[in-house]
Amino acid sequence: MTTTGFVTDELCFWHDPGNYALMLKPGGYIEPYNRHIENPDPKRRLLNLLTASGLRERLAPIASRDATPDELLRLHTAAHLERVRSVAAAGGGELGIGAPISSNGYDAARRSAGCALAAVDAVMAGTVQHAYALTRPPGHHAEPDRAMGFCVFANAALAAEHAIARHGLQRVAIVDWDVHYGNGTYKCFEQRPDVLAISIHQEAGYLQVTGDAEEIGAGAGQGYSLNVPLPAGCGDGAYRDAFERVILPALDAYRPELVIVACGYDAGRFDPLGRMLLDGVTFRWMTEVVADVAARHAHDRLVLTHEGGYCPVSVPFFGLAVLETLSGQRTDVACPFSGLHGKVPGNRLEDHQRRLVAELAGRFDAVRQRLWQ
Ligand SMILES: [Zn+2]
Repeated sequence: MTTTGFVTDELCFWHDPGNYALMLKPGGYIEPYNRHIENPDPKRRLLNLLTASGLRERLAPIASRDATPDELLRLHTAAHLERVRSVAAAGGGELGIGAPISSNGYDAARRSAGCALAAVDAVMAGTVQHAYALTRPPGHHAEPDRAMGFCVFANAALAAEHAIARHGLQRVAIVDWDVHYGNGTYKCFEQRPDVLAISIHQEAGYLQVTGDAEEIGAGAGQGYSLNVPLPAGCGDGAYRDAFERVILPALDAYRPELVIVACGYDAGRFDPLGRMLLDGVTFRWMTEVVADVAARHAHDRLVLTHEGGYCPVSVPFFGLAVLETLSGQRTDVACPFSGLHGKVPGNRLEDHQRRLVAELAGRFDAVRQRLWQ
């Protein structure tokens, strides 16, 4: 059993990206819809399931807080902060590319990032080994100077930077298993070797950025960013293969002092914004293997920040699987989707997936041999 901390904040659920039909502003033939696709439901329902299952009371509560301007300015530009603040003060609006906020957007985004920082502080203080931050808005698309893709501030990246700037760590690894490319994290650490930024995602799954395997960082950071783009239709077999042959060897070679997971659930098979086929069994397994990495190299220090995941019915069960695994405690909740595991198409490792993962493994082995000291 592992002591697992948990942080969330009501304000994160009040973050309001508006009343859009998917991401399109209603008008013309686009009928108004009652919710934005990034609405509180998946996360609120995860919180409710944690409570109903009895797991929440067995987690160590971590107090939420705001990220301070100085903490945000470690990675973001002053102009970006000012834009978020002024758009919120004016009543809300579009911050960048697909990142609308309402009047509470600046406050909610600072709180969301602050929850991630509080999770790092708790893990670094040793009061908990693992910590989970259940927050909105998400962060991994937010770049130093702009908001993107529902994300305002770069929560996971800010958490890594906090571990370095405040706690003196020298090697932090971020594993981003949200189905979309973690472009914001990449931009934050592109030039730096003190953060190993790994993103496993659906290739070309996000319109604005690519996340190709060729993007490996630059300058002193060359070789310390690792993109694992997978074709649509990958399930348990492909994800396990990618972890075992690409991601886990990279983490073991890097020996991080802290592991951070940008934990999205939109690679789940029911997600409207992803085309992957994972279920709770795979989320449980991925959590196990990153926790093992944290145990081998980082004194168990593991922080998860909640990113995407847009199916309000399945995300709570996938999130419960992750938190059960983190804490080493099972509830009596039976995941209604786990019965599908192994019985529906898409779980098996297909030949084209195996070949791609083998090619990526070879590529990154060569990168490490050339660039890592
Ligand atoms: Zn996503």
